[in-house]
Amino acid sequence: MKLVILDRDGTLNPMGDDYITSADEWTAVPGALEAIARLNHAGWHVVVATNQPGLGRGLFDVVALNAIHAKMHRQLAAVGGRIDAVFYCPHAADEDCTCRKPAPGLLEQIGDRYGVERHDLRVVGSCEAHVQAGAALGAQVHLVCTGRSAQVVPGGPLPAGLPPGTLVHASLGDFVDQLLPLVPGAPATAAPLPAAGQGAH
Ligand SMILES: [Zn+2]
Repeated sequence: MKLVILDRDGTLNPMGDDYITSADEWTAVPGALEAIARLNHAGWHVVVATNQPGLGRGLFDVVALNAIHAKMHRQLAAVGGRIDAVFYCPHAADEDCTCRKPAPGLLEQIGDRYGVERHDLRVVGSCEAHVQAGAALGAQVHLVCTGRSAQVVPGGPLPAGLPPGTLVHASLGDFVDQLLPLVPGAPATAAPLPAAGQGAH
């Protein structure tokens, strides 16, 4: 199975200073849902792995979290995409669990559940902790420059804290552009469209 493990906050939805505590507060990063749909159409399964310490701290409950994810699934379905599952760590930082990223426990559970070898997993997100968790597991790791990494420039120096070998992409859409041409039989729509006004090569 071809499996991409995405982060949520900052990757699928913009990240502010506060936790998202209700479905009303959830909006998608522009282009992110369409990028997931393109992955799906090329045969990739997508799972989300997210730290949600607001649960452990009592800022919201599982009912609210499910409502947030129901909204995410609905908006994604409207553009023809699907997230197979959302795995979350509900623990606060001081609870010393093994699933809170950058610990690899949550991603390990996902790899085991879906029967995907660790080195075949694509772990993609905008937070250092997500990428570090992927690297600790031996997965292929990708940073997207949204959310906390909005200041990172693809092709520039790799920011301190990111594991060596992290591939950097401007957006989730750019990650998908670079992934899909590598896949034999990928549909022609996987190729990025030339930008308007750009000269022919
Ligand atoms: Zn945990």
